Amino acid sequence: MNTKITVLLIEDDKSISGFITTSLESNGYRVTSALSGREGLSLSASLCPDVILLDLGLPDIDGCEILKQLRSWSSVPIIVISARSKEQDKVSALDLGADDYITKPFGTAELMARIRTSLRHRHPVSPDRIYRALDLEINFEKRLIRLAGREIHLTQIEYQLLTLLAENSGRVLTYSYLMNAIWGPYMDSNNQILRVNMANIRRKIEKNPAQPQYVFTEIGIGYRMLENESS
Ligand code: CA
Repeated sequence: MNTKITVLLIEDDKSISGFITTSLESNGYRVTSALSGREGLSLSASLCPDVILLDLGLPDIDGCEILKQLRSWSSVPIIVISARSKEQDKVSALDLGADDYITKPFGTAELMARIRTSLRHRHPVSPDRIYRALDLEINFEKRLIRLAGREIHLTQIEYQLLTLLAENSGRVLTYSYLMNAIWGPYMDSNNQILRVNMANIRRKIEKNPAQPQYVFTEIGIGYRMLENESS
């Protein structure tokens, strides 16, 4: 029986590729590495990996173009690993459908944690559909939110926003993704309404809204909710 998780690593830098491969293999993953974009695209289709790690700066095809092509036919989790650390680069990659983004250099433990998160999202949500972390519990079926056992009341929009983040906990959702998902494509692109709703949610669920424990701001990019402990 071979149930190893297969990782496709698309990275042209041989020393980084070697380092990641060694760390992943010693953690029980099977790794196939592609040293160019073209090779990466063809292996994505032939190998059907469980997760793809994608460098953006590739010699033949830009990583963003690879993301676009992959997302036209595949929903495989894709984690971008890149030296590009500008907010705009992260936003573009996440908006093109990357599940996560790690800036080089990064530690092995962080990479492993991000891979585990991305794989969890591949699986269907648990049947009882509960989000639980620290003192916060969201029951999606019953549309019930409790903080340390006490029921919290949110407006319709606040509820939609919080549950969208909770269903994607551990991942950054960009401002434009959230704006689109909740207010639709015709809302004007200024994020004011999003920030107001987030401030209201934080007043209701955070002990100290200025130092949130549940919903974190990724400045210039979006929001990330604390990982669900019950999934
Ligand atoms: Ca590179």
